[in-house]
Amino acid sequence: MRVLVVEDERKTASFIRKALEAEGFAADVCANGNDALAAARATPFDAIVLDIMLPGRDGLSVLKQLRERRNPTPVLLLSARGEVNERIDGLNAGADDYLPKPFVIAELVARVRALGRRGSDAKSPVLRVADLTLDTVTRRASRGGHVIELTAREYRLLEFLMLSAGRICGRMAILEKVWDYDFDPGSNLVDVNIKRLREKIDHDFEPKLLHTVRGLGYVMKEPS
Ligand code: CA
Repeated sequence: MRVLVVEDERKTASFIRKALEAEGFAADVCANGNDALAAARATPFDAIVLDIMLPGRDGLSVLKQLRERRNPTPVLLLSARGEVNERIDGLNAGADDYLPKPFVIAELVARVRALGRRGSDAKSPVLRVADLTLDTVTRRASRGGHVIELTAREYRLLEFLMLSAGRICGRMAILEKVWDYDFDPGSNLVDVNIKRLREKIDHDFEPKLLHTVRGLGYVMKEPS
C-alpha cells in the first residue's frame, strides 16, 4: 500500500512517514499543495494523508482539485483541534475521513489502513453476478456477451443492486441511493423501473437474477 503524506511541518511529516513504514506501507512526503497535486497525478496512491494547514494552496484546495480531476484516492484530512468548519468543508469537498491534531499515531495508521482497504475494493471496476457484468468505469452492462443499453437511472439502479448482490434492497433504500429521495413519493417509481430493468437484463436470459422479495424489496442473486 502506497500512501502520500502532505504536511509542511517536517517533524510531523517524518513521524507519520516512519510510523506508516514501520507498518509496511510505502510513504511519500510532500510539503506543499502543488507538489502534492503533481505527485498524485504521477503516482497512483492507495490513500492520502492531507494536512489542512499548508503554505500557499491549503489542504482543502488540494482536495477540491483532486476531486475535480476525478482522482478517487481516499483522503484522510488532518487539522488542528476545533476547526469544525474546516472539517465540514473537508467532508463536503470529498474527504473520506478526518483526524484532529494532536492525534495518536496508532489511530492515524489504523484509519489509513481502513481507507486503503476501502480504496482497493472500489478499484475493482467490473461488477459481476453470474454472466451479467457491469463496468463501473465505462458504464457498460452486458449479459452472456450481449451489450445491454441502459439509461442513466437504470445504470444507477443496476449498480446499486449489483453492489448489494445477495442482500435485499428495500424500496426506501433504492429511492435514497438511486433517486436521492429521503422520502417515499408514494408512487410505483421503483417498481416501474425494476420492471424495465428486468426486461433488459433477465427477459431473454436464464437464470433470472433480479428477484422480488414480497413485502421487502428486491435482491440480485444467482439462484442457489
Ligand atoms: Ca501543516
